Amino acid sequence: MRKIGFRPACIIIISVLFSFIVGNGYAAADASPSVSSTQPLHFYLPAVTFSPEAQTMLDESAAQERVFYYTVQPGDTLLSVALEFGRELSLMPCATSPFRPEPIVLQPEEVLRIPPASATCHRVQAGETVRSLAAQYHVPVTALLAETWNNLASDDISLWPGRWILIEGGSTLPPVTVRYPTPTPTSSPWPYGDGKFIWPLHGIITQHWSLHHRAIDIAAPLGTPIVAADNGKVIRAGWNTQGYGWLVIIDHGNDYLTLYAHLSSIEVNLGDVVRQGQVIGLVGSTGHSTGPHLHFEIRDFGRLVDPLSLLPQR
Ligand SMILES: [Zn+2]
Repeated sequence: MRKIGFRPACIIIISVLFSFIVGNGYAAADASPSVSSTQPLHFYLPAVTFSPEAQTMLDESAAQERVFYYTVQPGDTLLSVALEFGRELSLMPCATSPFRPEPIVLQPEEVLRIPPASATCHRVQAGETVRSLAAQYHVPVTALLAETWNNLASDDISLWPGRWILIEGGSTLPPVTVRYPTPTPTSSPWPYGDGKFIWPLHGIITQHWSLHHRAIDIAAPLGTPIVAADNGKVIRAGWNTQGYGWLVIIDHGNDYLTLYAHLSSIEVNLGDVVRQGQVIGLVGSTGHSTGPHLHFEIRDFGRLVDPLSLLPQR
C-alpha cells in the first residue's frame, strides 16, 4: 500500500477545496443602512416587472451600484421594490422625491429612481444643515450639492426638517431600528416566528456578509432541500429578474423577513403559512449564479443584517 506524504496530501486537499469553492459561484444582493420608515410590513408583495434594460443586466454586484428607473405598478410598496432590487428599505424614500412626506404611499405609474445600494437616504432633523450633514457622513459639502436629486443651491441653506437628502459615498451611520408591536394572532397555523432562526440549509459558506454582499451564500449540491428559518407567511414565490432567479420571501410577522434565492424549485405558494423547518424550495443556480448555492438574506424591519448574527452557532 502506498502512503501519501503529508505535503502532497495538503496540496490535494487545498486544490479540492479551491475547485469546490470556485465551482460554487456567488451572487450578491446589497444595500446601505440607516434611519426608518413607518410602513407596515405585513402584506403580500406583487411580482415586480422590469424594463428590458434592467433585464439585460449581467452582473448582480454591478447592479448594486447602478441607478435604475422603475415605473410603479398597482400594489407596489417601497418594501416590495426594495426587496426586488436588493436595496435597504431605508434607502427607498430617496427613490421618490426630496420633499415627499411620510408615510410614503406609491402611486401607480409613478417613476422611481432607484439609487445605488451604497448610498444613504437621510431624513433631515430640525437644526441640521448641509454643512452638518457633510460632517456627519464624512463627505465634502460639494458632494451633497452636486447630487442633483437633492435640489440644493448653496451650502448655507438651512434644511427643511422632514425632507430627504441623498448621500453617495458617505460612511453610514449606525442604523436605527423602529419596533412595532407584533400583531395578535387570530388563527392557526401559526404564521409568526419567535425570532430564533434555524439554518435554512447545511452546507459550506462560500460568501459571508459584507457591505457589498449583505447576505450569506451557502453552497450545497443541486436539489438539496431548503427549509424555512422560522414560522411565517410566504409573501413572494416566483421569478426575480434582478439576479435572484427563483425566489422565496417569508414574512415572519415580527419585523423579520427572510429571502431565499437561486432556487431550482419552489415548494410553497404565495400566501402559504409555513412552519420552521418546512421545506420551501430546493438548491439551484438560477439567476446570476455560477454554481448551486443558497443566497440567504435576513431583513430586520427592512434592514439587511448579517444572518450569522442571528443563526445558531454551528
Ligand atoms: Zn449571495
